[in-house]
Amino acid sequence: MSRLAVVSGGSRGIGKAVSQLLAQKGCRVVVLSRSRDTAQETVASLPGDGHVSFRCDVSKEQDIQKAFQQIQKNCGNITFLVNAAGINLDALLLRTRPEDMISVLHTNLLGSMWTCRAALRSMLQSNDAAIVNIGSVVGLKGNAGQSVYSASKAGLEGFTRSLAKEVASRNIRVNVLAPGFIRTDMTAAVTEEKLRYVPLGRFGEPEEVAQAALFLLESPYITGQVLVVDGGLHLAM
Ligand code: NDP
Repeated sequence: MSRLAVVSGGSRGIGKAVSQLLAQKGCRVVVLSRSRDTAQETVASLPGDGHVSFRCDVSKEQDIQKAFQQIQKNCGNITFLVNAAGINLDALLLRTRPEDMISVLHTNLLGSMWTCRAALRSMLQSNDAAIVNIGSVVGLKGNAGQSVYSASKAGLEGFTRSLAKEVASRNIRVNVLAPGFIRTDMTAAVTEEKLRYVPLGRFGEPEEVAQAALFLLESPYITGQVLVVDGGLHLAM
């Protein structure tokens, strides 16, 4: 039976590129996102068979419970989990609305915690399971106007390191991948002018992040690590 990979936020951007690469490598992929239509389109575009999508808002624990029950029932045990679902509602802290702070933390931080928790029992059945949580270079370095987003991603790092220790004895590896400016809907408003801070001088492509995610998922001796994929941006921050 082929490996089963669950990708939250797998319908667009980085998550979609991860879904495509994992499908190319022979995984069956489960795509989770809020929009059923976009997720279904993505699933239809994946090479190979056995891919499915579930509508699931990761900021809602009940949605996650339901989706993972369906996954266990219909798809089997999970080998890989990639948490790519994320939002940014950026503003200076004094201008940030409390409800936006809650949405960002629920989606980026609690959402990833909930999916990890929901997937773990199933992953324990595999002897080669791995999780990649998509953080951000902003979680490492901070950025004015992104304090809440940065907190959500820095929190994900602490969570990942602790979970890596908890599940290492079961050979489950848990890592963070921290991208810089990647060309997706999330960065549609980022101007080329910002790229002057990127030593490699360009946006990263979602496929380049997907390659790094696959590397982490398949590296048997890496856990509790943060891998930065940012064209060198962290050097300038
Ligand atoms: P996109 O906006 O292109 O895609 C986000 C994906 O997440 C979509 O599939 C979206 O689907 C899904 N999503 C958003 N909210 C939820 C939710 N509550 N429940 C389920 N799915 C959700 O973003 P990117 O691909 O750029 O970002 C992916 C990850 O990478 C995010 O965690 C982001 O913070 C991180 N990142 C991105 C960077 C970049 O430069 N692009 C840089 C650093 C980090 P739908 O809307 O249908 O729910």
